Amino acid sequence: MNDSLSCRENLLGLPRPQLESFVADLGSKPFRARQLMNWIYKRGEGDFASMSDLAKDFRAQLAVRAEIRPPEVVKVQSSADGTRKWLLRADSSQAFEMVFIPETDRGTLCISSQVGCALDCSFCSTAQQGFNRNLTTAEIVGQVWLAKRELGEFSTADSVDVLGDSHSPRSGSSGLRERAVSNVVLMGMGEPLANFRNVVPALRILLDDFGFDLSRRRVTLSTSGLVPQIYKLAAETNVALAVSLHAPNDELRSELVPINRKHPIAELLEACWHYIDEQNGRSVTFEYVMLDGVNDSPAQARQLARLLAGHPAKVNLIPFNPFPGTRYGRSPLPVIQRFRDELIKGGVLATIRKTRGEDIDAACGQLAGKVIDRTTVRLGSKIIGVAVSQ
Ligand code: SF4
Repeated sequence: MNDSLSCRENLLGLPRPQLESFVADLGSKPFRARQLMNWIYKRGEGDFASMSDLAKDFRAQLAVRAEIRPPEVVKVQSSADGTRKWLLRADSSQAFEMVFIPETDRGTLCISSQVGCALDCSFCSTAQQGFNRNLTTAEIVGQVWLAKRELGEFSTADSVDVLGDSHSPRSGSSGLRERAVSNVVLMGMGEPLANFRNVVPALRILLDDFGFDLSRRRVTLSTSGLVPQIYKLAAETNVALAVSLHAPNDELRSELVPINRKHPIAELLEACWHYIDEQNGRSVTFEYVMLDGVNDSPAQARQLARLLAGHPAKVNLIPFNPFPGTRYGRSPLPVIQRFRDELIKGGVLATIRKTRGEDIDAACGQLAGKVIDRTTVRLGSKIIGVAVSQ
């Protein structure tokens, strides 16, 4: 797909079959596409002139017709705990975010799928900005490419194993052992399934052996619950699925996650179990943000356990990250621990997410919210239909 800023084809937006067609249009054989992908995704090369095993004429053609252009970095924030957050430019007045979270056994990159979001979840910083636009496939893939370059991964490994378990850990600024990008989660700004048309090709490039070659279990798509698109996704790909649940009943969930008015919990859970059956997946991760006095009581934990027990489900309890202007507060740690214990007692696997990057603008959307032009579209609480790209 052509980016609006250039008439050259941004190759970061082309999954292998499309890249093969593009290369064929230039009069070259399909294997040239695989060579190109090797340069782009294994070696991180962005300059056609340096792709030494491609014919000179072909390189000259590419320089005229194509480009490898990741999003532009506006600002980088680094946390004392090693978390790094990039503010990236979409257009002259619009920005979105990407976050890298290094841990001892993995490095998770959280990427965005839209600039802003129309779904208006009441606890979400991104929601305050409303919706600006969908990111293109190239902008989604370009985040991973950019992060790997920024983290110095391509320079330390030019073989096909750059993302594999054999990658050597390095020392991060935190002093923690920092790993390469081993996991990618579509959990940044936006609702990925509302940008289905651009997200699915991006997933293909992440999983392709000739692309980033990530295992399906290391790529997670997180949705607030666009039920028809979950069924569609099950037919298209097999990445891990996470769902923003945040409440154990429809009354509360409709207040926190307005899309619930259209697709209530029972419908959503049915779609989740279908996804797991269809994809032979292990389990769905249910994200549950802990809001003080709102959704964090032991009775609510028991209600949630009754919904999920006996199903392939695990719950990730997320301590709320307050942002300016929010009416919510973070549940105290003992309350979160009690909630987790009730879930486990009720037969549901539950973990508490470690808070990271608290000394930077850690809540998703916070950094972008400070700089973007707020000319936005808001569906607000009157959600009856969400603009979804098919
Ligand atoms: S939580 Fe996700 S779906 Fe809801 S408004 Fe925020 S970015 Fe959008």
